[in-house]
Amino acid sequence: MDLYEYQAKELFAAHGVPTTPGETTQSVEDVEAIATRLGTAVMVKSQVKTGGRGKAGGVKFAPTPQVAAEKAKDILGLDIKGHITRTILISEAADIAEEYYVSYLLDRSNRTFLAMASKEGGMEIEELAVERPEALARIPVDALQGVDLAKAEEIADAAGFPAEVRDQVIQTLLKLWETFVSEDATLVEVNPLVKTPTGQVLALDGKVSLDENAEFRHPEHEAFADLAAENPLEVRAKEKNLNYVKLDGEVGIIGNGAGLVMSTLDVVAYAGEAHAGVKPANFLDIGGGANAEVMANGLDIILSDPDVKSVFVNVFGGITACDEVANGIVQALGILGDEANKPLVVRLDGNNVDEGRRILTEAAHPLVTLSDTMDAGADKAAELASTGV
Ligand code: GDP
Ligand code: MN
Repeated sequence: MDLYEYQAKELFAAHGVPTTPGETTQSVEDVEAIATRLGTAVMVKSQVKTGGRGKAGGVKFAPTPQVAAEKAKDILGLDIKGHITRTILISEAADIAEEYYVSYLLDRSNRTFLAMASKEGGMEIEELAVERPEALARIPVDALQGVDLAKAEEIADAAGFPAEVRDQVIQTLLKLWETFVSEDATLVEVNPLVKTPTGQVLALDGKVSLDENAEFRHPEHEAFADLAAENPLEVRAKEKNLNYVKLDGEVGIIGNGAGLVMSTLDVVAYAGEAHAGVKPANFLDIGGGANAEVMANGLDIILSDPDVKSVFVNVFGGITACDEVANGIVQALGILGDEANKPLVVRLDGNNVDEGRRILTEAAHPLVTLSDTMDAGADKAAELASTGV
């Protein structure tokens, strides 16, 4: 889960990373009062989960509360790369003498964590990495050793931070590492980390991604979820503990095992080329031990997606054998009743496949077509979807 800047800064503050105080609102009416309360010149900042807000006009300086209200009027509703600004952060404006960059991230390809730091912050890091790669220090961080004082010094010195901020940057690096580990983040980024004219180091922008696999350890993170901005089908799927991702095609997909579902997406996308270009409508992995209820929940989500014109159920019987899956499908269709209203192509293979097919043939549900192979099933589902578009 990616956090908004103001949420990232809440975590920073909680872990002692120096940042500027601020308040959020969704209404212009509140802005003058907030700016007055802060009692300083303020920044009015669009809260959207994308970078480059400054360039897009989503970050404005306001010397007085009245100006803050005017800027807020321009920024609320502002579309930044397809993200509509609903919330703004009013934060104390810092004076900036220098802008730096620091981050920690999970470096999957090298199976390690990575610290990145630069004394040339402010500009987008992707640009810096391309244009002046030598100005961006990249230091691997061992997952077991983490960032201790010596490591923080190594990072700060590799980036060549000036002597007058070195100690503060090192302390900030230690506290950001604490944030990264104790919040189970996969990314913590500060751009810019600044030096003020009086020599104070402050995090003025923050980007944090939390590892959803560690959600169970952080009930408090639930408050960060922004249901209004999420896809409603994904929200419902999450409530049912389903591993579901909405895509933009027309063929609903249910499978067991992430690998099989991923290949099913590919095969359906390929088959769709011959059928009006239809594509997969979603990813849904119902896992190894899928019973009738899980199948019913999955079908329910997929069938309630108005984009879906047909459904391809592609299951390989393993721990849960094909006969149980077939019974699951029959029962799920029974549970759903009239809500099941789109054609289903079912391909079963693996453990007890003959019995599974017999159960489905015997049930003879009018919406269900059986298919012997994955390719044939994908083709049939794509064809059914294309006649529905
Ligand atoms: P981004 O464009 O989405 O990365 O948003 P940022 O929060 O990084 O803001 C963009 C730019 O606005 C920063 O690089 C700073 O130059 C400037 N900025 C942000 N906060 C402040 C502040 O408190 N004071 C001043 N003077 N400038 C700021
Ligand atoms: Mn930034």
